[in-house]
Amino acid sequence: MSNFNIALLPGDGIGPEVVAEGVKVLDAVGARFGHEFTYTEDTVGGAGIDAYGVALRDETLEMCQEQDAVFFGAVGGPKWDDPGAPVRPEQAILGLRKGLGLFANIRPVKMYDFLVDSTALKPDVVRGVDMIVLRELTGGIYFGQPQRQWEENGERHVVDTLAYAEHEIERIVRVGFELAQARRKKLTSVDKANVMASSRLWRAVVLEVAPDYPDVEVEHLLVDACTMHLISRPGDFDVIVAENLFGDILSDEASMLAGSMGMLPSASLGARSRDGTGLGMYEPIHGTAPDIQGQGIANPIAQILSGAMMLRLSLGLEAEAAAIEAAVDAVLAAGHRPADLAGPDDRPKGTAAMGDLIVAALA
Ligand code: NAD
Repeated sequence: MSNFNIALLPGDGIGPEVVAEGVKVLDAVGARFGHEFTYTEDTVGGAGIDAYGVALRDETLEMCQEQDAVFFGAVGGPKWDDPGAPVRPEQAILGLRKGLGLFANIRPVKMYDFLVDSTALKPDVVRGVDMIVLRELTGGIYFGQPQRQWEENGERHVVDTLAYAEHEIERIVRVGFELAQARRKKLTSVDKANVMASSRLWRAVVLEVAPDYPDVEVEHLLVDACTMHLISRPGDFDVIVAENLFGDILSDEASMLAGSMGMLPSASLGARSRDGTGLGMYEPIHGTAPDIQGQGIANPIAQILSGAMMLRLSLGLEAEAAAIEAAVDAVLAAGHRPADLAGPDDRPKGTAAMGDLIVAALA
């Protein structure tokens, strides 16, 4: 029996509700395949502010650094919404990304057949969409210096800086190639190389790295064109890789292709070891959904699929990850629907009931 150590950070709102189902499913897959998961739980986000005055304590970060992976719910809510407040729930996420060196954000976007009518796009356009948006997370214009505003000749001026070092581009691009190799072997690199120096280096690095992955087809798209192609031909994409700002925008656009927030997992990865695994943080892309908190109706699938990504990318448990994904598919194929996906004729299942069904499908 192998043992893995997992930091559990449920956070606020529906976070604890969906994390409980994620843990239920992880334990079930552990029992089936002979693994034990040892969880160390801590309080972050708004709950952390209430308990300790900060969204993320130093000891919480240190605890996470010692684990094999971090399983995260969501943070925030109306109680802590004051934009001027010096401590804010999302500081937990930013602090974990920085403190754990998580530079690659992976968001798979998969369209389930039964959801094709629930997006704003035509069913024929979105049917079969199955892509990953890979976003660089720790560099670029959100962090570059100088970043400031000043007065000159009686008017306000402002500057943001988009800075990258070559190694920061190379490591994220290699993650993109490796993800593509394990999928349909197509990588779309997004930049604005016709006008931006940072994008010209980005494209040069992609071209230099590409020969190491001869089985992967590379496509270069300007970011403005990419936003259009995502809407007009989303089924053509396999893995999209982009720097921080472009990736932030494209990953939100792509998430709208899938029809529901409650279905989309994510992973944030740092440096990989030789076997391809390494510490990562796994969380649904949705927030704390204060409007449905405490009602037992939140869809736990995004959290459960984040658990599958954790098994695959941090623990190296591919068969176990695939078993969870297959169980989710089977439960949905059998017609069970959480409230956010239920049609007028469906009897929606609650959060815990969906978790139980997925556990049963695993057996
Ligand atoms: P949200 O994702 O929490 O909710 C948007 C809508 O989607 C709501 O109607 C909600 O009920 C629904 N929804 C979301 N997840 C669902 C699920 N699993 N099942 C069923 N329905 C679901 O976004 P928001 O309302 O803009 O933000 C609410 C709070 O969450 C804010 O405080 C925000 O800052 C925070 N937030 C946190 C994260 C994070 O922790 N990563 C991400 C986004 C928002």
